[in-house]
Amino acid sequence: MTDRRPTLRAALALCGCGVLLLTGCASPTPASDEPTRVSPESMGTSASASPTASVGVVGADLSGRTIAIDPGHNGGNAKDPEAIASPVPDGRGGTKACNTTGTATDSDYGESEFAWSVAGFLRDDLEAAGASVILSRSGDDGVGPCVDERGTFADDADVLVSIHANGSESTEPKGFHIIVADPGKSRKLEDESTRLAKSLSGSMAAVFTPNKAYGKDAISPRPDLAGLNNASVPAVIVECGEMRNPDEAAVMESEDGRRRYAEAIAAGIGDWF
Ligand SMILES: [Zn+2]
Repeated sequence: MTDRRPTLRAALALCGCGVLLLTGCASPTPASDEPTRVSPESMGTSASASPTASVGVVGADLSGRTIAIDPGHNGGNAKDPEAIASPVPDGRGGTKACNTTGTATDSDYGESEFAWSVAGFLRDDLEAAGASVILSRSGDDGVGPCVDERGTFADDADVLVSIHANGSESTEPKGFHIIVADPGKSRKLEDESTRLAKSLSGSMAAVFTPNKAYGKDAISPRPDLAGLNNASVPAVIVECGEMRNPDEAAVMESEDGRRRYAEAIAAGIGDWF
């Protein structure tokens, strides 16, 4: 859509998800955007389109588990800059902007749309393995939720995985990295989140490039991401790759690539359980 261009360009400056701009990244929400079960059709997937979704992909029986998936940002965020800029609890006793618009590839494929699509495939894979899945938002054309709610919506889940992609200014950075809250709400939560991050790093590194700028496991401990800070269950943000790197942008823009991101994340969640 042509009207996405200014929005997504702005996102490059606003996205909090990266080496450069991370502060606005992990987001949250308005009460109207309660965690919702979403039809596969609305997420661009369908039962017939998920032949790879199986316990085999996840590698574990997740019956009885509830997994919270937070697809980063939202497609309508740029339409309501006032709401998106409104302060919300940052989980550290301060406040933070409700959300940001996210980043985009050079051809304006948006981070929120990417995250939404990966979340759909991931949900299919996890449900095929027996898990219950809740999502932080119900579509990709709304506003929010704010970052604090992107943590608290997972209160009754076993684990929270937030899906993002990074937007560095340079096109050279490449690879995924995984963010954990440091310090965590408790030592136990921090340890479990770190174990989850290592599990995901391992499963993703089997398919994708780890960004070693974040260390050998491509894990980035950060104190400033409100979604993680407000989570009461083990939680990570997966920055799947660099949207401005041409090679990774091509993968993210392809449905097959997004399905592979989802499968790698699903395998890492299965390993962690
Ligand atoms: Zn992001």
